[in-house]
Amino acid sequence: MDFVSGLCCRECGRTYPAEALHVCDFCFGPLEVTYDYDRVGSVMTRQRIESGPRSIWRYRDLLPVADASPVDLGAGFTPLVRADRLAAELGLGELWIKDDTANPTGSFKDRVVSVALTKARQLGFKTAACASTGNLANSVAAHAARAGMDSVVLIPHDLELAKVTMTAVYGGRVIAVEGSYDDVNRLCAELTSEQPSWAFVNVNVRTYYAEGSKTLAFEIAEQLGWSAPDHVVVPIGSGSQLTKVAKGFGELWKVGILDEAPSVRISGAQADGCSPVATAFSEGTDTIRPVKPHTIAKSLAIGNPADGFYALDAVRSSGGSCASVTDGEIVEAIGLLARTEGIFAETAGGVTIATLAKLAQQGVVRADERVVALVTGHGLKTVEALAGTVGPTVTIAPTLEAFDEVMAASDQQCAGRARSGVDGTAFAAEETETRSAR
Ligand SMILES: *Cc1c(COP(=O)(O)O)cnc(C)c1O
Ligand SMILES: [Zn+2]
Repeated sequence: MDFVSGLCCRECGRTYPAEALHVCDFCFGPLEVTYDYDRVGSVMTRQRIESGPRSIWRYRDLLPVADASPVDLGAGFTPLVRADRLAAELGLGELWIKDDTANPTGSFKDRVVSVALTKARQLGFKTAACASTGNLANSVAAHAARAGMDSVVLIPHDLELAKVTMTAVYGGRVIAVEGSYDDVNRLCAELTSEQPSWAFVNVNVRTYYAEGSKTLAFEIAEQLGWSAPDHVVVPIGSGSQLTKVAKGFGELWKVGILDEAPSVRISGAQADGCSPVATAFSEGTDTIRPVKPHTIAKSLAIGNPADGFYALDAVRSSGGSCASVTDGEIVEAIGLLARTEGIFAETAGGVTIATLAKLAQQGVVRADERVVALVTGHGLKTVEALAGTVGPTVTIAPTLEAFDEVMAASDQQCAGRARSGVDGTAFAAEETETRSAR
């Protein structure tokens, strides 16, 4: 039994039953799942959560579907890693990385898809479909295979190779569309009325899908010993994830799981090449002007974000901020996170870390705050972004002499750097350059 009381229009407040509905018939506002929080509060305890599965389903009382065996590959309960070396680089104090690269298909989308397909199955759908910037495609194809459902996934034709492979391998239909994500999404919206028997995870079951992102907030609070952080930095694509992270902390308080009312500042991260929300934030307007994306952060390349307005509202009302970063800063930040903490993020993670660095420099994210940065996808998905910036330190003949020769040279270089105080981390790129120049 779930605790859903129904769906509610975010604009006019009209209520609807918990079916495959996503917009209000009266005002076309988006619908939101509402719960009977008194009833949730009467059963949900820290103990009950802690004895649950090590996945998002330990929080099932605050998810929109009750199913003893959900469509599950083990999404969620990913590591929350204390990042002291990165914090020192950025001049911050207590910094944590929520490492969602550890999800089954390597991104946070597994959280939302596991919820969406469990609900879709309950509603009687046999086919899962979506429009995707890549990670959603990976996750829908994998979870559909797990559930024994068919899948139809629409992607822009110019996606990263790994994301295409990681979708197609699961055996569903993969449709590459000659257009941007926004074109793909529009096509998907048209298809939804034509194919009412398909569950489009980010269209007709989007209301349920979106709820999966709340588990980020639930896990962070649990992993911080049942307390909320002061500041969370969240990447923005459609903006859904950011709004649900905000909702999640509020819900834990409502049902009595936290001792103190959370006061979490939420800041949004975008790429310069697709920054409609960050632009509206800095211009002080409520109007999100659609853009034509051009950035290496393809998983965030949504020029007309469905939840952009609500994300902006959540940022502002929490006292957070919003900023955007260049493609160069994204690549630099991917390297910084990898070198300091051993976590390899995709471009969206680079966006988060680069934005964190920028906000730290501006004094918006402060050293006296407990900060969490969401690293939402694995670096192996977007290796193209690093082409030419990383590679072997050196290539040698298979002899001891050759090895000793280059080690002696690199020891000398390192010693030289240590004396002059230069950071040794540039060694790899430099050495590759000198060797190939020979
Ligand atoms: C989809 C995605 C996001 C953005 O989530 P939204 O809910 O669309 O804002 C962030 N990071 C990664 C890796 C994603 O795949
Ligand atoms: Zn309405």
